[in-house]
Amino acid sequence: MKPVYGPFQRSPKGETPRTPPPARPKRQPPRRGPTGWPLWAEITARAGILLLGAFGIGAILQHIDAQPEGRKPWGQADLEEPGLHLFTSTHLRALRGNADACLAALDGSDMQFTRAGPSTASTPACHWQAGVRIEQSNVGYANPVPDVASCALAATLYVWEREILQPAAQDHLGSEVTEILHYGTFSCRRVNGAQSGSWSEHAGANAIDVSGFRLADGRVIEVTDWDAGGAASAFLREVRDVSCQLFTGVLGPDYNAAHHDHFHLDMGSWQICR
Ligand SMILES: [Zn+2]
Repeated sequence: MKPVYGPFQRSPKGETPRTPPPARPKRQPPRRGPTGWPLWAEITARAGILLLGAFGIGAILQHIDAQPEGRKPWGQADLEEPGLHLFTSTHLRALRGNADACLAALDGSDMQFTRAGPSTASTPACHWQAGVRIEQSNVGYANPVPDVASCALAATLYVWEREILQPAAQDHLGSEVTEILHYGTFSCRRVNGAQSGSWSEHAGANAIDVSGFRLADGRVIEVTDWDAGGAASAFLREVRDVSCQLFTGVLGPDYNAAHHDHFHLDMGSWQICR
């Protein structure tokens, strides 16, 4: 076989070296995107993600749109809508600054109430927004019936009775609550009755102090049963815990000695659950 000599090698017989073949152009590496992937793969992946995202958002919006009005994030509170959902507390809290929407929501419920006139208290801090007097709710309120309640407080109590209080009573006590025992709502005073400091939510009729519950079977569970153990304690502790899903302020015996005998439930601006 005839030997083939590489470039610049002399043949043993002194032949001139073969002309080297022209260098093949070097293959360019593919352009890469910021992630280090080839650019084409990155563009395809990003387009895919965008497309999936658009489909996902579309599906979510369609799902929300199919919900009843009271369950939409931008919907109004519907106090008869059964169950707690993602936006229940958002809707109830939105009622605080919107008297018309709040009264419309109460009108749409089975709560019987009358509108209260403006506060006659001489202290400017002691006024309420859209005050109402609860005449009849799904659960009774012991005499003397609560004084004025802010509309948002009344609306939240209405949902709380059905969605939190009664299920907890059934689960732990096997009975239903027929009457809520309380120390009232409106009270023109500062926090803890102090001479100075912040005004209480009670001064705006925006809080109720609940001291116990009368059951259909005749038993009375008082908040002072907090440490009694057994079903009564378990019931009270669940009510305290779950009430925080609806009320902005929930204070009980764990908070301080002043609350050893009642739950303070309010719709103020401070979120507290103790
Ligand atoms: Zn209170």
